[in-house]
Amino acid sequence: MLPKGFSQAPSRDSYDVVIIGGAIMGSSLAWWLTESADFDGSVLVVERDPSYLWCSTAHTNSCIRQQFSTELNVRISQFTAEFIKNLRANMGGDERVPNLSVQDYGYLYLADTEAFADVLRANQKVQLAAGAETRLLTPDQIAAAYPFYDLDGIVLGSINTRDEGYWDGGTLFEWFRRKAQARGVEYVQGEVTAMTRTGGRIDSVTLASGDTIACGQVVNAAGPRAAGVAAMAGLHLPVEPRKRYTWIFTAETPLDRELPLTIDPSGVHVRQDGPTTYLAGSKGDPDPAADPGDFHMDHGLWENHVWPVLATRIPQFEAIRIVTEWTGHYAYNTLDQNAVLGPHPEVENFLFMNGFSGHGLQQSPAMGRGLAEWITHHEYRSLDLTPFSYARVAAGEAMVEGAVI
Ligand SMILES: Cc1cc2nc3c(=O)[nH]c(=O)nc-3n(C[C@H](O)[C@H](O)[C@H](O)COP(=O)(O)OP(=O)(O)OC[C@H]3O[C@@H](n4cnc5c(N)ncnc54)[C@H](O)[C@@H]3O)c2cc1C
Repeated sequence: MLPKGFSQAPSRDSYDVVIIGGAIMGSSLAWWLTESADFDGSVLVVERDPSYLWCSTAHTNSCIRQQFSTELNVRISQFTAEFIKNLRANMGGDERVPNLSVQDYGYLYLADTEAFADVLRANQKVQLAAGAETRLLTPDQIAAAYPFYDLDGIVLGSINTRDEGYWDGGTLFEWFRRKAQARGVEYVQGEVTAMTRTGGRIDSVTLASGDTIACGQVVNAAGPRAAGVAAMAGLHLPVEPRKRYTWIFTAETPLDRELPLTIDPSGVHVRQDGPTTYLAGSKGDPDPAADPGDFHMDHGLWENHVWPVLATRIPQFEAIRIVTEWTGHYAYNTLDQNAVLGPHPEVENFLFMNGFSGHGLQQSPAMGRGLAEWITHHEYRSLDLTPFSYARVAAGEAMVEGAVI
């Protein structure tokens, strides 16, 4: 049976906007289009898996941070924090829509080399200039605030405890989708398997069912499968599925205060989850492109790498018990770990909404708003998101995000 709000087949054979992928990015865009007073076009969202069991949105760690290395990414997260805290008003005052809070225990980056400490110092300047509240902490200051760490080898930390930590991204996704559906955006179960292109225009998309849908604009919001969707249009997109592993665990002796999202120099990160549970995350080593349908856990990674790192950094984590675990995929932009947003320079009605590389959940409100502005007005009107355009990909010019987890 199809979930509520989905249909089996499109009701028409032509739409102004066809969005491929209806998880948080596709649904954010759909909702923002319905918000625009100047847009009255028809919108179809095509989603291959309406259960949403296998998308990145369902496997996220759902955190937000201000500690980025580029001002634009800081501004994007600031917008998200304000947007979600006022979600009800932003969604028209509907009493069913909650305001969301940020559990802002902060991200604590730990540097064990002077070179990385310099990166944290440089990032802090960018963040402060953008209005964030990042603080640099010496090892003594870290020990005073969080006595549970073993700080052997650590030379500096950086933390920001305003609008940085856990938030409920799943609820935001739910309301983007429900509200878009209620306002007439059609969600259909189906997989886009092909496109027809005439020169610099996509004419139509074809679904696995055989249906062919003509489109004014087509949006690639296919998450880790984005490169395959771009290839259907004859376009190259350097975005790969990369597996990211998550474990939830309890500790025999819980910490006496909230654990910030701690980014160990090894790359392993760990944060408070529930009152007495913790969440740890890691990539594999090596970290190759994966099949987007591969959800196998790597148990050796926990035993041989993640747990030893945790127990060294936080000795109380010597005695812990895994409660649950999962793996999901980053849509990893191999050029610069940043979003690719907006039209292809030569195929202008093919729009990217891709490559969020592990920070897409928190970027979904600004990306949806920006792309809706572009579709409606052919320009960004609130935040200028031009730096994310495909032009840099074509030119091979990285807009490096130096603070990727
Ligand atoms: C382990 C992990 C932890 C993360 N932690 C964070 C975090 O703390 N903070 C943060 O901001 N971000 C985080 N992220 C990243 C965030 O989850 C993603 O950036 C975000 O969910 C991407 O949303 P999306 O809609 O682009 O992609 P997805 O959620 O993957 O959605 C894409 C959708 O497209 C559909 N689709 C694909 N191909 C087709 C097709 N051909 N036809 C029809 N439909 C198609 C899929 O079924 C899917 O539903 C994390 C990701 C992972 C994996």
